[in-house]
Amino acid sequence: MVTQAAGTSLLKRSQKQHLNVRVTEAVDLEAAKEKTARITLRLEEAFGEPQWQGRGKPLNSLIKTILSQSTNDRNRDVAYRRLRERFAEWELVMNASQAEIAEAIRPAGLSNQKSQRIKQILAWIKQTYATFDLSFLCDSDPEEVTRTFLQLKGIGIKTISVVLMFSCGHDIFPVDTHVHRICRRLKLVPDKASAEKTHWLMQPLVPAGKSYSLHMNFLRLGRTICRAQKPKCPECPLNSLCPSAEAFWPVTAKGGHEHSGSSGLGNRQILT
Ligand code: SF4
Repeated sequence: MVTQAAGTSLLKRSQKQHLNVRVTEAVDLEAAKEKTARITLRLEEAFGEPQWQGRGKPLNSLIKTILSQSTNDRNRDVAYRRLRERFAEWELVMNASQAEIAEAIRPAGLSNQKSQRIKQILAWIKQTYATFDLSFLCDSDPEEVTRTFLQLKGIGIKTISVVLMFSCGHDIFPVDTHVHRICRRLKLVPDKASAEKTHWLMQPLVPAGKSYSLHMNFLRLGRTICRAQKPKCPECPLNSLCPSAEAFWPVTAKGGHEHSGSSGLGNRQILT
């Protein structure tokens, strides 16, 4: 059973009501859901349907995701490997000095901030659950787990969603930097939606059971085609569904792309 973290110094001062996003305009919501379903299918046709790898250790995933903040996968992996090689048990990390942890995770960047948070989070976990084996979280209510961990400094909605999806197999759709960019380009969410708002707006749109598939395929699309700079729209499997394709790759006499009619969502308004 997940317990509340009230009273610890680790709590964020003002916790927003993350779970209370209101979705309005049911008609537009249906259009957005239908479009998201088509996108999911189109990507599975192009890239295949990624298969979940099975349960992992939630705490390992949690620490790794904290290390991934503001860095790339390679640096995250190097930092995580150094941390695990230097400290055989999470208990040893908790009891190490912040400077020792910072030195181990230095390749991930922001090592002072991340080491402080990792140490605090491990202490909170030990105090709250008396174990570093958080496997039981996978059998708890994911909304309750989310609410509890969002109260901790250093853990945002992306971090806890990654843990719940990758380690536990829950049907939750994490929004990382690639997913955030692609959702905005596809106009599934407003242009100015933050990553956090995008998370809440996307949850009701993703077809049931497809969070893992869509997340992994968006990652692949974001790394190879829909890159931050110069997206390769002509070779994108979503170009006929994407309102941004023409802006990036205007159709010219020399050669066009597959864009086949309007795919925008009109004046969809989804508000918090
Ligand atoms: S068509 Fe272009 S902007 Fe749209 S998702 Fe594909 S690569 Fe990204």
